[in-house]
Amino acid sequence: MKLSELKNGETAVIVRLSGHGGFRKRIMEMGFVRGEKVKSVLDSPMHDPVKYHVMGYDVSLRRNEAAMIEVLPEEEAREELTPIHSFGCSSVCESCNSSIGCNCIYRPASTKRNNVIDVAIVGNPNSGKTSLFNALSGSSEHVGNYSGVTVDAKSGSLSYKGYRINVTDLPGTYSISAYSPEERYVRRHLFDKIPDVIINSVVASNIERNLYLTTELIDMNLRTVVALNMFDELEASGAKLDYYHLGGMLGVPMIPTVAKAGKGLDKLLDTVIELFEGNNKTIRHIHINYGNVLENELAPMQQELHSADDLPQQFPVRYWALKLLEQDAEALNLLESCKKLKEWNTKAALAAKRVHNQLGIDVETAISDAKYGFINGALQETYTPGDKDTQRKTRRIDRLVANKWLGFPLFIALMWLMFTAVFYLGAYPQEWIAAAFELVGHWVADIVPAGAVQDLLVNGIIGGVGSVAVFIPQILILYLFISLMEDSGYMARAAFIMDRIMHKMGLHGKSFIPMLMGFGCNVPAIMATRTIESRSSRLITILITPFMSCSARLPVLILFAGVFFPKYAPLVLIGLYALGILVAALTARLLRKTKFKEDETPFVMELPPYRMPTLLATLRHMWDKCEQYLRKIGTIVLASTVIIWFLSYYPRPEIDGQALAAADTEQMAAQNYEQSFIGMIGKAIEPVMEPMGLNWRATIGIITSIPAKELVVSTLGVLYSSDGEEGLQESLVSSGDFTPRSAAAFLVFILLFFPCIATVAAIASETGSRRWAVFAVVYNTTVAWVAGYIVYIIGGLF
Ligand code: GDP
Ligand code: MG
Repeated sequence: MKLSELKNGETAVIVRLSGHGGFRKRIMEMGFVRGEKVKSVLDSPMHDPVKYHVMGYDVSLRRNEAAMIEVLPEEEAREELTPIHSFGCSSVCESCNSSIGCNCIYRPASTKRNNVIDVAIVGNPNSGKTSLFNALSGSSEHVGNYSGVTVDAKSGSLSYKGYRINVTDLPGTYSISAYSPEERYVRRHLFDKIPDVIINSVVASNIERNLYLTTELIDMNLRTVVALNMFDELEASGAKLDYYHLGGMLGVPMIPTVAKAGKGLDKLLDTVIELFEGNNKTIRHIHINYGNVLENELAPMQQELHSADDLPQQFPVRYWALKLLEQDAEALNLLESCKKLKEWNTKAALAAKRVHNQLGIDVETAISDAKYGFINGALQETYTPGDKDTQRKTRRIDRLVANKWLGFPLFIALMWLMFTAVFYLGAYPQEWIAAAFELVGHWVADIVPAGAVQDLLVNGIIGGVGSVAVFIPQILILYLFISLMEDSGYMARAAFIMDRIMHKMGLHGKSFIPMLMGFGCNVPAIMATRTIESRSSRLITILITPFMSCSARLPVLILFAGVFFPKYAPLVLIGLYALGILVAALTARLLRKTKFKEDETPFVMELPPYRMPTLLATLRHMWDKCEQYLRKIGTIVLASTVIIWFLSYYPRPEIDGQALAAADTEQMAAQNYEQSFIGMIGKAIEPVMEPMGLNWRATIGIITSIPAKELVVSTLGVLYSSDGEEGLQESLVSSGDFTPRSAAAFLVFILLFFPCIATVAAIASETGSRRWAVFAVVYNTTVAWVAGYIVYIIGGLF
């Protein structure tokens, strides 16, 4: 029977996996292995995907993929499944050949003779790596409860007992194979940077699947200490773990920690130092026994490799032999420089075939079966499961959040709440900030004599920066919501319920998170696409993310919606966001139909248990974003406003040094803009924008959105500052430059136009090609123009 045929609430045992290699590998490392119990828990509101419970975790899987997993009722499965080798943790010392218990420690101490220790944190997504990193380094990296918030390595450092410890927070992975960009990244890091010590962050309350990654670290013979994180959850569940004994069996010291509360860190750091100095009692290199069939193939392979003198020294011979047998392409890339690689490959391929013939399963499955067998054996002796049901809360919330009838309304209500909060709540502090800037402007105008300097200070810097700074409250509120959704675990549920719809666009539910993050800032959003394993889906997601209206565009949208559509402002705002999403969806379909015809990878996603977001983590996240925004204001915005001021102030028309009457000044200033450099640029491009009713001043606003979207408002702030006492809102209306119709076209154009420079750079680096960046620029600009024009035409009908 197929897993997809299992009804909600039913349990069965996995007997066989089909489908292509990548699919099998992925679901195996996430816990779908032969002999494992799996329960169908909940359908998503649109019936697909389904939430399954396996190995203590909730995982979402599409029906057509679940169909590739064969299951049987428990009793029948026991007969079907004959173990391919005895479970247990027999292990043999590489140097003295005795089984467990020898005293050879040939995991050597670091050869470095200084006090600097490089530490890398490795672990499953959501195992608390970032929390650990923050607690250790005191840094304020964002902590998230969604698999994949950490998309890049972050570094920090601390001083401890006379050592300088550099800590790197690596992306979360289920294993270290060639499967996803994260995994490749982690292996590359371990291979190239050669950290002195690895901290393997393991969820103590759910140890089985987490230890899979640990077995890979064991194979790699890295100096590892396991941080048994979330030990509080283990204790709360009533489970017992003899971690001392377990560590002994695995040859890896294990230290309980509660990263969230900063507990156990001293002990962890002490162990790091012990490992570095080579005086830890627990550490030793064990060999996981892969069963007779595999071991018989591994032995000659190892011998062969031993005799090579050009094998990289980072990992042991046995590891390379395993990877050769597995035909792990990425690992073999690391062997590129070996003279005999071709020969080895041929031999390994033959060996793999023999294994398949004898066991009836491929090498990868056999290896992961053996790894899980090893883990099981070790846990049987050391672990007693708890009797308290700690997942009841998560199940209850999920029944509500993913409910057939309530799921979507709840989701939409949440989005609505988010955008209204941004719009209405943000308005109050916004006014205070605006008033403060105005006050400063007046004050400066009073003490600085009239002339170019005063104009630069008041209209250029204070006016320009001020018009951007007023949006800080809105951005804080937006990030408050995004941060809460991420930290609580709701973000993954959003992907779960949205998968069916995203599937229609040819994407994964996972693409939904980067798109949602795009509402904050496109740059991290594009980086967050790294969690999408499928290359085509990832590229498409990257290309459509710029259509998600980022928070930097929000100021312009709020300004124009408020000024020209005062009664319907929130509606206009939601409409614009919706338009962005629509264009993104159409673009995705278009790309799927043309350039990327097929999608290669499965939709498997962990649904982490709901956790209460901590106030500190939320505030840190908000402060992070606020700081980024302030930095942007202090650099790009400030520099650009000065440049724009300069371009708009010069060249000055000849006035013979005459003082002008107040009435003339206004006219003069307007005239001055027209004759200034910026006026010339705007006018040159005006004909292109004219079809949608936009003149040179609006055009200038659009051009200045290229370095950063925030600049539109500050530019308009400078351009329309000539009208004396009026605020920007009033002068926009009184200038007569915009009608509601052209304002709508302007809004649409700004929404869809050329992503900002930073985003273009992110596209180039994440796709690994400038061509896609250029494509994005040309495509988005064209779409923006066409859409703006259509809106203008439609506006004319009313
Ligand atoms: P990462 O994905 O591995 O970087 O994990 P994070 O550091 O983002 O943590 C994931 C979630 O686990 C967050 O909601 C944390 O607040 C929570 N968390 C981290 N450490 C602990 C811990 O020791 N105990 C408990 N109960 N929760 C923790
Ligand atoms: Mg993290």
